[in-house]
Amino acid sequence: HKIVIAIDGYSGCGKSSTAKSVAKELGYTYIDSGAMYRAATLHFLNHQVAIDKPEQVKQYLAGLNITFMINPETKEQETYLNGVNVEEEIRTMRVSDYVSEVSKIKEVRTELVSQQQKLGKSKGVVMDGRDIGTVVFPEAELKVFMTADLEIRAKRRQKELQEKGAEIALEKILSNLAERDKIDSGRKESPLVKASDAVEVDTSHLQFEEQVNQIVALAND
Ligand code: C5P
Repeated sequence: HKIVIAIDGYSGCGKSSTAKSVAKELGYTYIDSGAMYRAATLHFLNHQVAIDKPEQVKQYLAGLNITFMINPETKEQETYLNGVNVEEEIRTMRVSDYVSEVSKIKEVRTELVSQQQKLGKSKGVVMDGRDIGTVVFPEAELKVFMTADLEIRAKRRQKELQEKGAEIALEKILSNLAERDKIDSGRKESPLVKASDAVEVDTSHLQFEEQVNQIVALAND
């Protein structure tokens, strides 16, 4: 029978790419909750929303529509913000440097968590993020908490960005990952913590295929 798989963990552990492959292996739907926080962040940046003003935050949240569509050519899932494909733009450092500040806001989390719960209503879902096993789907049948050495994460992320044509200094990536981990773990609203019933997977010394296989095996257990 189909289940819900929650994958949480620190920034740049390879949660998204792993979750995507696990979903493919199992014939499940993949949902990237981080892409939703990134799209909300881009929306706020585009409209220069003062995020310390709850009224403004609420007003712009009401005009936020995030959807996912499969690109027919690449077969990859892409993120749309109010009908515009923002898949590339939400991965830029401009968004990465601001997303954890936006993700601290209570109103933002309430809205996105409710959208995520609707998206995951039917079983057969792999969702990755920071609070999926603790807040979005506390009843998930399988919870994974991914970790990896910071230096290794930064190098992997640098390579990923390079492949997309973005040359970014390792130092800059290191500090972005460390800063986001600090804000995500320290925030008041659903901080990043390992759910007590989550299985920890340290990917520092795992090959990509190995981490995918481990999770698929857990799902089939
Ligand atoms: O997963 P990704 O690295 O793209 O997420 C970007 C940021 O969005 C995280 O650093 C975190 O601040 C926020 N986020 C969150 N809760 C989630 C997913 C992402 O707060 N479930």
